[in-house]
Amino acid sequence: IGRDVIPAGDLLLEAAQTVEPLMREHGLEFAAVDGCEGAKIIGSRKALFGALVNLLENAMQATPAGGKICLSGKRRGDLLAIGVRDSGPGISRETQSRIFEPFFTTKGQGTGLGLAIALGVARAHGGGIELFSEPGAGAEFVITLPVGPVDR
Ligand code: ADP
Ligand code: MG
Repeated sequence: IGRDVIPAGDLLLEAAQTVEPLMREHGLEFAAVDGCEGAKIIGSRKALFGALVNLLENAMQATPAGGKICLSGKRRGDLLAIGVRDSGPGISRETQSRIFEPFFTTKGQGTGLGLAIALGVARAHGGGIELFSEPGAGAEFVITLPVGPVDR
């Protein structure tokens, strides 16, 4: 794993700038809210960026035009919570229990690896991924990561 010192707000901004044109093409409203308060994460910038973009792509693919996607960073004590919320169809309980399995996909052209890899990346950084979803009321995936010892 990398030992980059990553300002979380920069990571958020970079991911937001990467997906923003795609969101617009899909007719989705997109907002990014940086509540990271200057927190820094130690690890692989590349891997964390990939995990975040993956969650954003999933949200975009799940949400019909006219919907809304929100990327947010929030401090939770010694943790940082990076959330990707969408106003799509949500995820049923049965499906929720399977989506982190490698190769589980409901998409014709899906690999089913995005969430398995994102979870592996979060865990490798000492964190995890939380999922909140009510069918019909969208979904929110939250990557939790320990804030680095620098500038805690
Ligand atoms: P893939 O995107 O290739 O299907 P993922 O591991 O990224 O693989 O996602 C697995 C499955 O989880 C998707 O096929 C989809 O059924 C479900 N999923 C992921 N994100 C969302 C979301 N935001 N809303 C609804 N379903 C989702
Ligand atoms: Mg995916």
